[in-house]
Amino acid sequence: MQNRIKIKEVEVKSIITPSKLPDADFVINPYIGCLHACIYCYADFMKRFTGHGDEKWGDFVDVKINAVSVLGNLNKIKDKTILFGSVTDPYHPIESKYKITRNILKALVNEKTKIEILTKNGLVARDIDILQKFDDITIGFSLAILQDSLSKKLEPFASSPQIRIKALKECKEAGLKTFVFLSPIFPYISEIEEIIEETKDYVDYYMFENLNVRANNRVKVYNFIKENFPDLLEKYKEIYDQGNLEYWDELKEKIQKLCKKHSKEARIYFHHGK
Ligand code: SF4
Repeated sequence: MQNRIKIKEVEVKSIITPSKLPDADFVINPYIGCLHACIYCYADFMKRFTGHGDEKWGDFVDVKINAVSVLGNLNKIKDKTILFGSVTDPYHPIESKYKITRNILKALVNEKTKIEILTKNGLVARDIDILQKFDDITIGFSLAILQDSLSKKLEPFASSPQIRIKALKECKEAGLKTFVFLSPIFPYISEIEEIIEETKDYVDYYMFENLNVRANNRVKVYNFIKENFPDLLEKYKEIYDQGNLEYWDELKEKIQKLCKKHSKEARIYFHHGK
């Protein structure tokens, strides 16, 4: 763990939170903050609500140390969907030490609930023994950039793309339901075809989400483009400053064709910050 990181153990009152996301009834975020420190992260608005207003996203983490003891009455999650990791990654590096995600999962093994896990970290494969005990569980890997050097710049402390793919294979070979979440798709950069080609034998379906450029990530995203793809800057301005949605419409068609070719379901969540 890098020295820059401030780790604090905190006690929380509850851990299963009602969700506003379309595909989940509840969310569980075992940590506040996320050490993956992705430059495009949409979750850093959490800083304001958690007393981390002046800190850099990725430089702090609050560990919800009493998470298992505040699971509460589990009747409410019967036949419901719980997503692990809406504003943190449940398997970011600190999980290797604290095992909060693992312990919550252990406590939920006998519940009749549907679990979804979304991660950018190969650490999830550590818990295959627990994951296999659930009747209804899906493991998703976020992966929208295949080139290691680019991934390092965008998602500096997440597992490398190849480690994520290795963990995906391990999960599939262990009999788990899996998906790859191509998110966020960087226009003209994300290697969509290659990612599908490399992962198609190990996923049940794909999900797709476009990159949104918002006030909180705008400077970082544009700096990344300027430094690495200066020729794309004008195209990014067309999409994000002038609101040209043609790129996404064409991409949507292309994705549908690609997934059809490989007999994979494509769940496309393109939204444009509105
Ligand atoms: S893994 Fe997710 S929550 Fe964590 S920094 Fe990256 S985008 Fe944000």
